Parts: sequence; structure tokens; C-alpha cells
Amino acid sequence: MQRAADGVVPHADVVIEGRRYEAILPRGGAGGAFDQVIDGEGCLLLPGLVNAHTHLAMTLFRGAARDLPLERWLSEEIWPRERRLTAKDVYWASLLGLAEMIRGGTTACADMYFFMDEVAHAVEETGLRALLSYGIVAPTPDRIDPELKKAEAFAREWEGKGEGRIRTALSPHAPYTCLPEVWQRTAALAREIRVPIHTHLAETAEEVARIRTEKGKSPAEWLEELGVFSVPVIAAHCVHVSEKDIEILAAHGATAVHCPTSNMRLTCGIAPVHDMLKGGVNVALGTDGAASAGDLNMIEEMRLASLLAKQRAGDPAALPAAEAIRCATVRGAAALGWGKELGTIEPGRRADGVLISMKGPHLCPGYDPLTDLVYAAQGADVTAVLVDGHPLFQGGELQTLDVDAIRGRCRRVARRFR
Ligand SMILES: [Zn+2]
Repeated sequence: MQRAADGVVPHADVVIEGRRYEAILPRGGAGGAFDQVIDGEGCLLLPGLVNAHTHLAMTLFRGAARDLPLERWLSEEIWPRERRLTAKDVYWASLLGLAEMIRGGTTACADMYFFMDEVAHAVEETGLRALLSYGIVAPTPDRIDPELKKAEAFAREWEGKGEGRIRTALSPHAPYTCLPEVWQRTAALAREIRVPIHTHLAETAEEVARIRTEKGKSPAEWLEELGVFSVPVIAAHCVHVSEKDIEILAAHGATAVHCPTSNMRLTCGIAPVHDMLKGGVNVALGTDGAASAGDLNMIEEMRLASLLAKQRAGDPAALPAAEAIRCATVRGAAALGWGKELGTIEPGRRADGVLISMKGPHLCPGYDPLTDLVYAAQGADVTAVLVDGHPLFQGGELQTLDVDAIRGRCRRVARRFR
């Protein structure tokens, strides 16, 4: 089947057998009898969108926090609320986040939080794909052992669960919330149990200044010295990275996860996405938690990433639409460890996909579907979502979740956090 230069195959039949794509054929070519046929007339089928950095349960704090810079936002608005969260709260809020993500075309995410067994149960029931990890916060020596124990137990228990849809990582929260010993022991453990490290890195100028004062190095240099990059690293944000930091990330095959909405909301700055891609860094996209991002909408993140990259580089050719889509699909899939299985629609690959209607007036006349997808499409244009060949959203309905029940429960829980 002929692909155009941008990889788009016009007017195709896509055949799925079991959990995998089996064939991409000219329209009408599939023929035969199928268990199920999804009408994709006027739609674009994309490999599923990958939200490479989020905290699902923070949907519970959507709209709750005042607009503050990151450090005050965390210490005054978020951490006091998080201390009052129960395991059940996290379960319901995670379901809410999953419902929202599926509706917006996301098929996989990387989530870091606590009460992670609850998050994992929610993911398992929902049918989404996820890389999950317990967020280690250990700024004092007494916290190190208990935190690492929790992180390790979770990573070992859930790796490969959900018929292989769930993978795990280890997540020291950030350079400013974890002692050096945490990083060294986490890296050793990650090597031993063969999981990546998912963390926050260089999110604010304050973080970089503080680590430089304390350690005489940038956060990336410091983590490299501690051996963290000896395993695959997923580093959320990377807003304030130097040329040398970019070299470090590229040399070790690390992923920088750009979260444009959250960065703008908390005035963290604009990540040098164009420079990182030019420097050979794998750049993925994420929403971060809904408390800062507002929503978990990856189509919007693609648009903002592209627009911000152009502003920062002073170049309208920076992060063109097709590359923004790659960041949200194949690059995200690689970051989560599914680079060989996901991220493109080809025979043999896992049948994760999102069908986006291109029929709306805001997408007319339709010169170029990729340009329209990034600069004009809406989350509401998503008409079907598949993971491992299973429909999670179809015909306007979530297939594995009762969204009314989830909303009702989350509204009740939210009364305690007003
Ligand atoms: Zn985050």
C-alpha cells in the first residue's frame, strides 16, 4: 500500500487480527467477514496518542488551586491536599483521568503518583496501556528506605500485568525532593529489574539555580554523575536545559517530555524543544496533572508544543505538524518502552489507534490532514479509540467505564477538598 511522503495512506482499509494490525489495504480490499467493522469514512486513523507524563489522580484537584509559581503551588495548594487523599480517592480520580484521556484519543500514558496499586487497578479495568510508578519523595535520610521499598514492591508486582499493557518504572520525584543516595540506589535497582526511571527534571529556573548552588552542577549533570542515565530515563519538562544538558540527554538516549500547558500555567518557561530534537534527544509530549494542565488533552498539547517551539526558536518552521505528531505518538511509545511494538500503523504492530473525524467545519476544506490535526482539530473530534485491538471508545460511548458513576463519585469526594 502506497504511503505519501508524510506517511499518510489515503482511503485505506485497515485489518486487525487479535491484538495486532494485520494489513493496510486499498479501500474495499479487505472484503471478507469480520467480527466487527468500524466505519472510518472521513476519518484519520492515527497510532494512539501517548501522554508521556501525567498524574491521573490529580483530576480531583482540577480547578482547585490558585494560580501560583511552581514551588508555592506545590507547597501551598497541592501537597496539603495530597496529604488528605485516601487510596479510594486516588482510584476514582484515576478512573476520571482515564475516561478523559480515552475520550481525547490517548491510548497510553506514563503516570507517577502514590497509592499506585489503585491507579494500576483503574488502568487494568479500563484497558488503557500505561507505564506506572510510585513517586519517591525522600528529602531526609529516614524517608529513603520506606520510600524505596514501596517503589520497588510496586514495580515488581505490576510489571507485565493487564495482559502486558502495564509496565512499571522507578520514580524519584525530582532532583530537589530526593537525596543523592535515592538516585544511586534507584539507578542500581532499575538496572537490576530492567525498568526505566521516570522523573521531573529542570522544570524551573529556581530548581536549576538551587542544584547549581548546592552541587556546582546542573540537575542533568548531577544525575549523570550519580549514574541515573545508565538506564532509560523519562525526564518530564526539561525547560531549563543547557547545551551540555542536551548532550547528556542525547548521549544516553533519554526522553524529554515536553508539557506545554502545565509549563505555561505555572510560568516555568518554554522548553527548547527545537534544540533538543536537533541535538538528538527523543522528545515526547505530556499533559502533566490536570491540577496544572486543566485538562488531559493531547491534541491541544501537540498544538501548543508546535506554537511554543516556533516562538522560542523564532522560526515558524520549528516543530512542524508532522513532527509534533511524531512526538505525541512514536516518540512517546519509544519513551514508554514500546518503541518496537507501537507508534505506527503497520502489519505486526500492536493495534492501538485513534480515529479522528475530519468532517467538522473547523477542518474544512482539508488540504492536509496532519496540518489540520495539529492546528485545528479538537479532542471532541475523536470518534473511536482502540488498544490492543479492543475498542475503548466507540459510537460516542466509553466501552469500559461508567462515566456517570465516576463523575458522581468524584464530585462527592471533591467536597472534602474545597
Ligand atoms: Zn509532573
